[in-house]
Amino acid sequence: MGRTELLYLRDSYLSEFEAEVIGLGEGYVVLDRTAFHPRGGGLVSDTGMLVRGSEVFQVVGGEQSEEGVRHMVERIGLEVGDKVRGVLDWNRRYRLMRMHTALHVLVAVVNARTGALITGNQVEPDTSRVDFSLEKFDRGLIEECVAEANKRLAEGHEVRIRFVEREEALKTPGLIKLAAKAPPDEPILRIVEIGEIDAQLDGGPHVKNTSEVGEIVMKKIENKGKSNRRLYFTLNP
Ligand SMILES: [Zn+2]
Repeated sequence: MGRTELLYLRDSYLSEFEAEVIGLGEGYVVLDRTAFHPRGGGLVSDTGMLVRGSEVFQVVGGEQSEEGVRHMVERIGLEVGDKVRGVLDWNRRYRLMRMHTALHVLVAVVNARTGALITGNQVEPDTSRVDFSLEKFDRGLIEECVAEANKRLAEGHEVRIRFVEREEALKTPGLIKLAAKAPPDEPILRIVEIGEIDAQLDGGPHVKNTSEVGEIVMKKIENKGKSNRRLYFTLNP
């Protein structure tokens, strides 16, 4: 995005990196490269720190912008041209990766069973939520989907990341399960494949194997309008 090379697109497990400050603004710095995943795609931002020599600047969030990825820092002091080491809050990020892969598997299962698309989602470290366009409110059906998703996760499917030319990617059916979401306007698109279960255009970090996820635990289901069902879930462990 913008002028920042997104290191996490190729390696979700990169937790530390070296970078240079290439832009500044109120409360943020822009780096030439980053492993911090900024808020987007339904995922909350990574957090962590930027280190310059012996000085630490806490990163409390991030967002995409025209000038690159903005890293929200707790205090000023960094200058353009500074060399920094970025360190992610790995426990939080890894939990987000597990949640994110869990969401994809769950959505694929619900989509295969009911044809429902997802109309929104929020992936957070503790509790995530997903909205499905389901006409019939049926708790039993959602419970069955969660049970099936857990079975698939436990089977240990590999998660592969591929970069494909736009034209080729758009020929593949089913790559976008998010209702009303247009593919990004870029020549090369990133596809995340989870075994034979799911393939999606996706820009976020994932685990390498579904066995890392653990178990999806349903917390709550809500009616959000006539044909919208919102599911809250967490992970065990
Ligand atoms: Zn995703």
